[in-house]
Order: sequence, then structure tokens, then C-alpha cells
Amino acid sequence: MIDFSLTEDQLALQKRVREFAQDVVAPAAAEHDRTGKFPYEIAKIAWKEGFLNSHVEKEFGGPERGSLSACIIAEEISAACSGIGIALDANALAQGPVIIGGNDDQKKRFLQPMTEKPMFASYAVTEPDAGSDVSRISTTATKIDDNTYAINGLKWWITGGGVASWYFVLAKTENGATGFIVDADSAGIVRGPKEENLGQHASNTVRVEFQDVKVPVENRLGEEGDGFKIAMKTFDYSRPLVAAAAVGVARACLSHARLYAKKRTCFNKRIISYQGVSFKLADMAINLDAARLLTWRAAWLYDNGLPSTKESAMAKAFAADTGMKTAVEAVQVLGGYGYSMDVPMEKLMRDAKIFQIYEGTSEIQRTIIVANLLRER
Ligand SMILES: Cc1cc2nc3c(=O)[nH]c(=O)nc-3n(C[C@H](O)[C@H](O)[C@H](O)COP(=O)(O)OP(=O)(O)OC[C@H]3O[C@@H](n4cnc5c(N)ncnc54)[C@H](O)[C@@H]3O)c2cc1C
Repeated sequence: MIDFSLTEDQLALQKRVREFAQDVVAPAAAEHDRTGKFPYEIAKIAWKEGFLNSHVEKEFGGPERGSLSACIIAEEISAACSGIGIALDANALAQGPVIIGGNDDQKKRFLQPMTEKPMFASYAVTEPDAGSDVSRISTTATKIDDNTYAINGLKWWITGGGVASWYFVLAKTENGATGFIVDADSAGIVRGPKEENLGQHASNTVRVEFQDVKVPVENRLGEEGDGFKIAMKTFDYSRPLVAAAAVGVARACLSHARLYAKKRTCFNKRIISYQGVSFKLADMAINLDAARLLTWRAAWLYDNGLPSTKESAMAKAFAADTGMKTAVEAVQVLGGYGYSMDVPMEKLMRDAKIFQIYEGTSEIQRTIIVANLLRER
């Protein structure tokens, strides 16, 4: 049996988030884009509404909603503003390694507080010399006594890094790459200024330097050498979320382009009556649905405990490329208005680009898909 319908709970959730996105997120989008201000107040409301911490298990105070429901939330919020959406969803990426590789004590100390009050956390893996190629990280965690590590290194492009209460940090130890949870108040942590990026201005991206930061051994995730696996496994659940956010952006682009094409007249006809325009809209709609279906399939596989690495990569690659392509085409449909900063299209186009870069570039997703294809019989 195959069933594409959402459950009643998921439909109710979708309706609630859509209202929140339209009433709270959309009206604030332009201001956050202009000022780059972090959306604290919006995050507080989202937290109160229960739209954050989706993956945290009930045992630790979370809603344990599952990946598909988290994708529904991500799409709705990002359709209103993906900068605000990613500012909120960075938590999910940081929580992933703790959910996947953490023990009960670590979950209690780091996940539970996030369900008790609005808090932020970041996933700190990328470095100046190690983006796609994570094996090149040079941050080290050196054991200085039986109970303590000292972390040294520079993490780069860390979403939410300036507001985080703790970081998931991947560092080199004697026995391979190892994941640590690092309290952001620890001595020796230096947070850089917010990066000035092309889009998603509401999201806070900074570099974070670790200067001899002491971390107790109780904050190590699993054993030494488990870090790479934990960091990569996290993407099986986080990539559908990023894909869903890109779907949200594509949906917003199609909506603007459709409305404009229906009312704009050129040469005595509405432009939607020209095949050169209407086929663009048809292609946007095809890609949007395909991207959402790939995303929901990846999330469904994850929720059902089935292998989903290839499918998550497919969803992320296709949705990110769809987000970008749809934004570019939608700008074209709006003509000069599409290029104007008075109309949200240019923001959508700037915001869309990052989906092809973070959480693995579109090229890296393809290398993951090919690696899986080669393994298949
Ligand atoms: C706004 C923003 C937020 C981010 N947030 C986070 C975060 O929260 N945490 C975090 O750890 N990181 C974060 N990142 C880092 C992000 O994941 C990396 O930028 C991304 O993985 C690419 O790495 P890179 O920038 O070093 O590019 P590189 O790895 O140097 O890649 C450069 C180019 O080469 C291509 N390339 C590389 N290898 C291959 C290959 N084998 N085959 C084909 N093409 C290849 C890439 O696709 C890309 O086009 C963020 C980045 C940005 C811009």
C-alpha cells in the first residue's frame, strides 16, 4: 500500500504552523533581512507553540514528532522567511549528534533544558580548510588528564554560533575524529562577529575559536573515533529538514510568480497566456511537487528506521536546486519588479542560494548518491 496523505495530527500541525508563519514570521521577514537582527522574539513564540526541538525524545521533555512532521514545520516557516526558518532549525542540526550518539545523562543535561526554555545550540564541524572534506579538520581535543580534554581550533560558518548555549564540536583525538558537547560559556571560546552573507540575513553565522577550552570527558559523545559517523549520520535527519525549507522557498517563489503572471498585461494579453511564461510556472509546479515528495519520502524512511542516506541526499540536492531554479525563473516572470528590492522576489533568490551550499553542497550530495549506487547490487 502507498499513501501520500498526511495524518490528522500532521494536517492540524500544518495549519497551526501556517498561521504562525503568516501572522508572525512573514510580517517580520523584510525587517530581519534588512537589519540582520536575530529573531529572538519569534523564536520565543515558536518555542512556546512547540515548533522547536521536534526530534527531542519525550523522555527528555521533547515532542518526539518525527522527521516528517519537522519537515512540515520547516516548509511552512521557510515559505514565510527561510532566514528565520534556519535560525530556528539550527537547533535541530546541533541536537542531532546528541540524539544519535548521546547517552541519557548528556540528553538530560543538554537537550532537556532546551525543552524547558527557549535556547539555541550549534553544530560546529566546518573549518577554513575543511568544508566538504570533513576529514581535513585540524581542531584537536587533547586529553590532559583522565577527566578532561583541551580543545583547540577554529570552526567556521557556524549557524547560530553567536547565540548558542552549547556546541557540538568535531575534533581530532588520538583515536580519530570525536564529537564533544561544549558549553558555550567555557573559558577560551571566542565568538566572531556575524558574517555578512548574501541571504538568510536573520540567521546568525559566525566563526568560533576554541583556545584551550577544557571539556569534561562526560561531554564526549560515544568513544574516541565515533565522531565522524555521528556527525554524518545526523545528516540523514537534518537534510530532509533543509530540503523542506528549500521547498518552502520554491513554494513562495511560485506563488509570487503565479499571482503576477495572472495580472500583468503585455501586448494586450495577460502574460500567463504566453507559453514562454506559463510553461515556466508549470515547470516550477512540477519541480516543487517532486522536491516535496522526495523530501517526505526521506523523512518517512528516517521515521521508520529505514536506511535513508541516499534518499536524504537526493531530497536535499533536488530541493536545493529546485529552490534556486524556481527563484531565478520567478524573478524573470516578474521582469523589472523581480529585480527590485521593494518586492520580496530578490530576497527569495538571495535566500535560495545557500541551500545548494550548506549541509553538503549539491555536488557532495551527488557524490553520496553515486557512492550508494556503486554499493547497490
Ligand atoms: C551560511 C552558512 C551556514 C553554514 N552553517 C554551518 C554550520 O552550522 N555548521 C557547520 O559545521 N558548517 C556550516 N556551514 C559550512 C558549509 O557546510 C560548508 O560551506 C559546505 O559544506 C562547503 O564547504 P566549503 O565552503 O569549505 O567549500 P569546499 O568544500 O571548499 O567546496 C568548494 C567547491 O568545490 C566543490 N567540491 C568539493 N569537493 C568536491 C567533490 N568531491 N566533487 C565535486 N565537487 C566538489 C563544492 O561542491 C564547492 O562547489 C555553513 C556555511 C554557510 C555558507
